[in-house]
Amino acid sequence: MIALYLKEIFLSPVGAIANDEIESSFVSKSTKEPGTKVEVLLSAKMNRTENGILIDLGGRLSLSTHCDRCLKKITTGYNFKSDLEIKNQDVVHLKNYQYPLEELLNEQILLNQPIKELCRDDCKGLCANCGNDNNIKKCDCKPFIEINSPFVALKGKKHGPAEKKNKQ
Ligand SMILES: [Zn+2]
Ligand SMILES: [Zn+2]
Repeated sequence: MIALYLKEIFLSPVGAIANDEIESSFVSKSTKEPGTKVEVLLSAKMNRTENGILIDLGGRLSLSTHCDRCLKKITTGYNFKSDLEIKNQDVVHLKNYQYPLEELLNEQILLNQPIKELCRDDCKGLCANCGNDNNIKKCDCKPFIEINSPFVALKGKKHGPAEKKNKQ
């Protein structure tokens, strides 16, 4: 479990400041490939206030995934910052003064991971026809029309009937 240990700062006078560094890992449910092990590097600045503890949390989450275009294994990572306030009445209910962080880290993964993970911005991907990796060399297949492209519908209207005639 990844958690902030709050006992010392909680028992300190108002105005006290404490720093904590955490280096750990956990298995995330929020990664694109659920169950991916995520390496976590965190630093927390904790500030004892009258109402509780203010925490300035920041860090880096690193993980292995696959390029969405060419499927090559890649390592990626996200930086994040988060401000927390844990009220006195909540601190006393924590088990062993430990504030668990995995839920927050899963949220940060969801917030920060891009729609497409790419090995590089200009990855040419795999040929949809023969599976060739176009980053290495081009295959002889005709260019593949992306199904999601807004031009597919237009192309269908323009060339559809003509193509049918040609085939007959
Ligand atoms: Zn790629
Ligand atoms: Zn091909």
